[in-house]
Amino acid sequence: MDARFDAAVIGAGAAGMMAAAVAAQRGLRVVLVDHAQRLAEKIRISGGGRCNFTNLGTSPAQFLSRNPDFCRSALRAYGPADFLDLLRAHRVSWHEKHRGQLFCDDSSESVIEVLRRECAAGGVQWRMPCTVRGVGRETGGFRLDTEAGPIRAARLVLATGGMAIPQLGATDFSLRIARQFGLRIVEPRPALVPLTFDADHWKPYAALAGVSLEVRLTHEAAAPEGGGKRSRRPARAEFLEDLLFTHRGLSGPGILQISSHWRPGDPIRIDLAPGRDMAEALVAAKSGGRQTVAAALAQAWPRRLAEAWLAAAGPADGAARDEDLANLGGQRLADVADRRLRALGERIHRWTLWPTGTAGYKKAEVMSGGVDTGELDQRSLEARRCPGLHVIGEAVDVTGWLGGYNFQWAWSSGVACGRALAVD
Ligand code: FAD
Repeated sequence: MDARFDAAVIGAGAAGMMAAAVAAQRGLRVVLVDHAQRLAEKIRISGGGRCNFTNLGTSPAQFLSRNPDFCRSALRAYGPADFLDLLRAHRVSWHEKHRGQLFCDDSSESVIEVLRRECAAGGVQWRMPCTVRGVGRETGGFRLDTEAGPIRAARLVLATGGMAIPQLGATDFSLRIARQFGLRIVEPRPALVPLTFDADHWKPYAALAGVSLEVRLTHEAAAPEGGGKRSRRPARAEFLEDLLFTHRGLSGPGILQISSHWRPGDPIRIDLAPGRDMAEALVAAKSGGRQTVAAALAQAWPRRLAEAWLAAAGPADGAARDEDLANLGGQRLADVADRRLRALGERIHRWTLWPTGTAGYKKAEVMSGGVDTGELDQRSLEARRCPGLHVIGEAVDVTGWLGGYNFQWAWSSGVACGRALAVD
């Protein structure tokens, strides 16, 4: 059967359901198409099952994009307070966990249920699970060839998200269709992802898997990226967050944040004792008795970390061979020259590492890059060179920091698009 709609939305995730509900509640005939068996898997697994659905501190400053201002208009038109109003209307309660991050009190299922009910309120029609085999342009709009038959729609919204977690059905569908219609793509890559190291280089630290501590992470871009004056990568990024050692490298919130800025060949710098002066503290501790260097460090760090890190901190950590730092762990503080303790303090505050890669899309929380914002109108998310085609959510080159920003972008871009569909 040939079905005709005002708008077809492909991808019933965070952004797609929001756009479909908003447009349908404004009187449009909307169809939502998704190939998955289960609705909105990424919302379900997010935030450890409680969905970190927004951040109270949301502003364009927490987003990476070739055009960092692009998200401003959608965020202003529909921000965290608006999403909280929606949750209130559906009697969903939440709590703040850490630095403005808001999570459901109950489970992320409640956010999915809110969006499902909002779609139902507008009479959105569903085709799910349903594979879209191809999309074409025709007089009056678009034609979708789906396994449930052809769908015709005056407008088409691409909302299939990014490629993170392919095991949950993530695809590059939106990017492929955008390319088909001539839109430029900013090279996609895994982001908010653990960083990995050469196995030999990492061997001394592999036993530390599971150890975590608060650190300050700094990334300085080795070379500016293409894209003219407006780089999507700030020259310097810094985060005070937890770091987690893994068998293959580093993870934890701090590393996930830095990973969105990191490119192959770039170093990352880690201050393992932020806010302290370890050089002076170690020298001062010399008068405190017979403790070893490892025991002194174990007062600030987990003991396992102090011992293994000191054992590796000399020649083995990828920096130039440093005799001052070799074999320090078992020595008594009192027997170590001040010069060597100061060198150790310096290394603790400026531990420089060269990751060799990332853990890839299988472990990434998001994809960075996507449809170039230069192709889209920032108020409607409509493609300038293909009127009637809209791209929203993670498929757009707008990537939030960790902490609820990516869902806020999905809500904001979804609402902006849904409203624009109804106005045109
Ligand atoms: P999605 O929500 O991914 O929806 C895309 C939809 O498109 C899916 O339903 C998918 O089935 C469908 N689809 C894909 N390909 C096709 C195709 N070829 N044909 C038809 N349908 C298709 N962000 C936060 O802000 N806070 C968090 O707590 C958080 N936790 C996360 C935890 C994990 C483990 C992961 C992986 C991500 C997390 N994120 C979080 C990121 C967040 O989930 C995404 O940024 C957000 O879901 C993007 O919304 P979207 O609508 O663009 O895409």
